[in-house]
Amino acid sequence: MRFADVLHPRRGRAASHADAAAPDGGRVLLQARGLGVARGARTILADVDVDVMAGEVLALVGPNGAGKSTLLAALSGDLPLSAGTAVIDGRPVRDWTARELSRRRAVLPQQHRVGFGFTVDEIVRMGRAPWARTDRSVDDDAVVSEALDICDVAAFHDRSFVTLSGGEQARVALARVLAQECPTIMLDEPTAALDLRHQETVMRIAAQRAQAGSAVVVVLHDLGLAAAYADRVMVLAGGRTAADGPPDEVLTEALLSAVYRHPVDVLPHPHGGRPLIVPRRPGHGPARAGQPAVEPANWAEYSRA
Ligand code: ADP
Ligand code: MG
Repeated sequence: MRFADVLHPRRGRAASHADAAAPDGGRVLLQARGLGVARGARTILADVDVDVMAGEVLALVGPNGAGKSTLLAALSGDLPLSAGTAVIDGRPVRDWTARELSRRRAVLPQQHRVGFGFTVDEIVRMGRAPWARTDRSVDDDAVVSEALDICDVAAFHDRSFVTLSGGEQARVALARVLAQECPTIMLDEPTAALDLRHQETVMRIAAQRAQAGSAVVVVLHDLGLAAAYADRVMVLAGGRTAADGPPDEVLTEALLSAVYRHPVDVLPHPHGGRPLIVPRRPGHGPARAGQPAVEPANWAEYSRA
């Protein structure tokens, strides 16, 4: 696997991915307006607006329980809405059939619910199911092989999935999602189990897919990764949008410290480029202006209603 292939996969082959990925950057592929989700009597999400355009990576960040996974499930059609609308590729999610949806959006869930007894090859090949009996199935072998390569799992392609480490399993699950070749890609914490190198690889893949015309939503806890790779960052807190915009506007000490209820430093990178984002730790000295020492006075703003 050459580095250039990670950045420009399938450059030499027919442009079927580009066809599916609607390479018209700027078109909104995923949209929510006033989206709400309830679980029983509890409101989990309220008043969420989202636009994700072809060609961009949207990082979705926020504390545990903020509603990030719920939002992905609602946007992807896996959870009913209690309010508002979710639209994929110009049509309400509920109006697409399951088959039509599976050709438009691929989802990496936070938990991999993969059956026992499958090899890595078989699992990645499951990503091709939506294209069975279509012209695009002629690409199956090449797409699977490329996804195995990009995710650095080809070396154990014939192993049983359950024998892999957590990080290896996560990369196989991602390979399956990439093999699905959808214009909209939703990744829920794809880097959580990965070592440093593979975290960077996964984010580079996300950015590359966006460059090729996909709309990519990725849930991240590592704010440094969000700052480095996202075109836009949305912060969820307490089931509502706390901020949405370019990384340098959204990832501020004041907002992050309030949302995470812990002082956060945003520092210029000594080698240039996007900033470093680090939690304040023992030995770092007192909190700076705008940072809470313990809990911010405006914490209530970010609590679930
Ligand atoms: P995040 O992904 O941001 O950590 P989630 O979307 O998983 O958060 O969860 C948001 C809130 O919804 C949490 O308070 C969680 O406990 C709750 N929740 C998630 N799934 C369910 C469920 N099946 N039933 C009831 N509450 C749920
Ligand atoms: Mg989650």
